[in-house]
Amino acid sequence: YPLEIARDNHSFSRKHVSPNALKVLYRLSDAGFDAFLVGGCIRDNLIGIEPKDFDVVTNATPEDVHALFSNSRLIGRRFKLVHVTFGREIIEVSTFRANTNNQEKPPVHDGRKSLKDKDTARSSHGIILRDNVYGTIDEDAERRDFTFNALYYNIKDFSIHDYCGGLEDIEKRQIRIIGDARQRYKEDPVRMLRAIRFAGKLGFDIEANTAAPIKEMAPLLDHIPPARLFEEVIKLLGSGNGEVTFRLLREYGLFKYLFPDTDALLQSGWQREDISPEAFILQGLKNTDQRIQGGQSTAPYFLYAILLWPSVALRHEEFEKQGLPVLPALHQAASMVLDNQVASTAIPRRFSTPMREIWDLQFRLPKRYGKRAFTLLQHPRFRAAFDFLLIREQSGTELGGLGQWWTEFQKSPENQQRDLIRSAD
Ligand code: ATP
Ligand code: MG
Repeated sequence: YPLEIARDNHSFSRKHVSPNALKVLYRLSDAGFDAFLVGGCIRDNLIGIEPKDFDVVTNATPEDVHALFSNSRLIGRRFKLVHVTFGREIIEVSTFRANTNNQEKPPVHDGRKSLKDKDTARSSHGIILRDNVYGTIDEDAERRDFTFNALYYNIKDFSIHDYCGGLEDIEKRQIRIIGDARQRYKEDPVRMLRAIRFAGKLGFDIEANTAAPIKEMAPLLDHIPPARLFEEVIKLLGSGNGEVTFRLLREYGLFKYLFPDTDALLQSGWQREDISPEAFILQGLKNTDQRIQGGQSTAPYFLYAILLWPSVALRHEEFEKQGLPVLPALHQAASMVLDNQVASTAIPRRFSTPMREIWDLQFRLPKRYGKRAFTLLQHPRFRAAFDFLLIREQSGTELGGLGQWWTEFQKSPENQQRDLIRSAD
């Protein structure tokens, strides 16, 4: 494949690039630096979908970039990079980086940062913890995950640089890892999740060599910090393709490492008259996908409340059998399920509290007498709990028309609301 494709020979459309990203590119270029768009924004543009955000790469160091933009911040998490902010939009600017596997190579060009121990680090499992070693654009391409994520759009001449065959893979509609799949998953097991995420989002196939080691290497996810996995789960299941992505995660044996309890329960085939775990989760993801595709938002806590509800229901039954009343049994069950879950994927407290409220309300929504229905309507989590209740009903839980009742109650004037309460008694 050719390395550089001239402007007339590719279909990347500048019309669909954010004006702010263009500003950043031109400012860098005018200051004498190389400046390229890279990653998801090129991939999505070529496939014909709206990119989420725009990433810029350059040979300028983060300090250079920061000096050029007054509206910028130096960020230093896993990688050192710069965020240039325009209102709510953030353009991420990073410096070309080399893969740390090329460590033995001597520096090849002037101005390249020398390798110091503090710039790179690996865990005892071989996972890359830091790689802040600057490099050339083709080295930068090699350290990216998939070929279609390693395409660069040059602002200087509007050409596309393709060092890894990404254009051909887009043509073939396939997800192909750069380099040796096993080695790349070992360096960063999250790449396995990303392969699944792109498969779910784009409907592309995962190329055979890229797919082959996933099942076997899935346990490596146990070594990823729970906070990072939480972020990945939200992207996997909360981006509008949750249902298909959930199926793929299970097919590739990855779901287990994200939701061990839920996975065990699904594997066991546990069912109860009032809950069918698989049907419920699929229904919940389907509804969430529809909301997102319809332009509505879905809170991460709602997604998590769905995914953990079958486990909560199972544990709830056990605590009730031990003699606890309904609500204390629920609270115990919720605590137990949440405690287990955070070992895999962290759940920030701002999410676990509303999850508990949604679960709690499932037991309170049936009790509508007196002033209760009006009080429930005012509950900050009423809407989410009501949506949750509808999903339970849609997945086969028989609640005696409770969803329909609340639907009518919400849209009725007050005098009719009183009639409804009487009819429910
Ligand atoms: P989207 O933003 O649509 O979810 P994306 O491809 O832009 O998809 P980001 O997480 O924003 O994904 O990452 C930007 C780019 O950084 C990717 O396109 C890829 O080139 C590179 N990248 C991200 N994560 C990894 C990783 N774990 N290993 C290697 N390269 C990665
Ligand atoms: Mg992106």
